[in-house]
Amino acid sequence: MEKRLFNFSSGPAVLPVPVLERIRDEMLCLPGCGASVMELSHRSKQFMAIQEAAKQRLIRLLNITSDYDVLFLQGGARLQFSMIPMNLLRGQTGPAQYVLTGSWGKYAIGEAKKEGKVEAIYDSSATNYDRVPTETELKISSDAAYVHITSNETIQGVQFQHDFSSTTPLVCDCSSDILHRPIDVSKYGLIYACAQKNAGPAGVTVVIIRKDLLARSSDELPGYLNFNNHSKEDSMWNTPPTFAVYVLGLVTEWVEKTIGGLAAMYKLNQEKAKWVYDAIDRHPEMYLAHAQKQSRSLMNATFRFPNEVLEKAFLTNAQAIGLDSLKGHRSVGGIRASIYNAMPMAGVQSLAQLMDDFASKNS
Ligand SMILES: *Cc1c(COP(=O)(O)O)cnc(C)c1O
Repeated sequence: MEKRLFNFSSGPAVLPVPVLERIRDEMLCLPGCGASVMELSHRSKQFMAIQEAAKQRLIRLLNITSDYDVLFLQGGARLQFSMIPMNLLRGQTGPAQYVLTGSWGKYAIGEAKKEGKVEAIYDSSATNYDRVPTETELKISSDAAYVHITSNETIQGVQFQHDFSSTTPLVCDCSSDILHRPIDVSKYGLIYACAQKNAGPAGVTVVIIRKDLLARSSDELPGYLNFNNHSKEDSMWNTPPTFAVYVLGLVTEWVEKTIGGLAAMYKLNQEKAKWVYDAIDRHPEMYLAHAQKQSRSLMNATFRFPNEVLEKAFLTNAQAIGLDSLKGHRSVGGIRASIYNAMPMAGVQSLAQLMDDFASKNS
């Protein structure tokens, strides 16, 4: 078998090896089923148990109370950019307020504009989204339909470090940092995340919605786009993405049983990110961090070089030692090291070592 690389891809991204091994072992015949999980009816006892177990794991890991529902949907986070304003903004008097800390928030507000009145109450685009605001910088109005934040901006590598409080329902795109630390779900009205960054493969999107908000959805909405249908039918309104839900179940089981839960996961993520950021800070003449220090993402570390020749040389050196997919997004340039939950410690240690070696050879 060919050797696995350290995969720093921003998404779809690295998965835990024990999860991949389990999928391999169960591929032809899921224990007790006589078939692959992909061949089971979504309404079979066996699959319903798999989906319910995945849901219960999310509920336990995130301490989700019974006034919330957990939905497994399709269409990625991008469909939520539309579905959320369709369900939560239509028919409301106040506007939806958006906090723009990066490219994904910008896309989200673009879709919401098609639905109703929106306002950007924070926008750091003038400095290419290098920071997140403090709570006191935000002027959230109490009559807003909701306020939308992106907890981690995957492209720029800036992240909110804490949950914050708002009496206006807080909607959060957690696509690239769900399950990376414990969060206080009770502070949010709705949390959504596509799975393919930190929670599983592409194909399933998790929506955690406070049940009282379901009352806002109009019956006029197309069936699939109405949160109520999915909530009433326990994410079986239509065929859910069964394989993706199964893998998400295995990933959450790995976080819970192998890692030991979200507090332990958070500690590991802080340690892993420290390897990379310490290397950046040791060589400020070589590595130009994109994010301001207090906004640095634990999931996506972004930095540039003094010139493109050095950037190319670094990427070539990285590839040669098995560090893959480090090239940054074109809107930021340089390097983006995505170091999600499943990135092994050895991967970031190897990257930090390369950063030290490269800086001493080329300075
Ligand atoms: C990847 C990503 C998205 C888009 O997800 P899709 O599943 O491709 O629609 C949205 N928001 C954030 C923060 C992301 O990282």
